[in-house]
Amino acid sequence: MNEKPTPEPTMDINLPQRLYDGYRAFRAGRLPTEQSRYRELAERGQAPETMVVGCCDSRVAPEAIFDAGPGELFVVRNVANLVPPYSPDGLYHGVSAALEYGVTVLRVKHLVVLGHARCGGIQAFASNAPTGDFIGKWISLLGPAAASVQSQREDGDFLKQLEQTSLKRSLDNLKTFPFVRAASERNALALFGAYFDVATGELSVLEQESGRFVAARD
Ligand SMILES: [Zn+2]
Repeated sequence: MNEKPTPEPTMDINLPQRLYDGYRAFRAGRLPTEQSRYRELAERGQAPETMVVGCCDSRVAPEAIFDAGPGELFVVRNVANLVPPYSPDGLYHGVSAALEYGVTVLRVKHLVVLGHARCGGIQAFASNAPTGDFIGKWISLLGPAAASVQSQREDGDFLKQLEQTSLKRSLDNLKTFPFVRAASERNALALFGAYFDVATGELSVLEQESGRFVAARD
């Protein structure tokens, strides 16, 4: 066998051109208008009032959907916007770490789980697609929600129901974190569920008593 060694991946100091162009536009446009805000945030630190748990999906950026400026949203994004149950087992928990920081250090007042239509993570779970070393384990968190969805996997409605049911499950999981429960019990933290329709741009909000999603007010 005379196989060529696999070349090491190269680290290029040149970012993709699109990012340079975007940064140039930021320096020319947004930075001058928000310069004082950035300086203030640098000196005093961040104090966002809202935390968002969103999906990695490039179409569902919380800062864009909520028209948020620097320092306004504390965001953690993951595949399928899932909140795992509280599990302090000494392993690596990025989402839980962000929750702990947002709730106990930043003391955010509002915590929003932001789900969305056409979620690839949800589709992967529903179709039993091969999911590599990490995704399969992660989206197995969808199992309990999937078991409680009424429609069958073949139904067109199944994915939307799973997206919305798993969002409710994530809100339930949030309440398994002692610091989340404690903050919400003393009315220092309010929990919300919201669902973004990528095609229409419509946002609906979970009405927690009825369990229904209703269109966000204009
Ligand atoms: Zn998604």
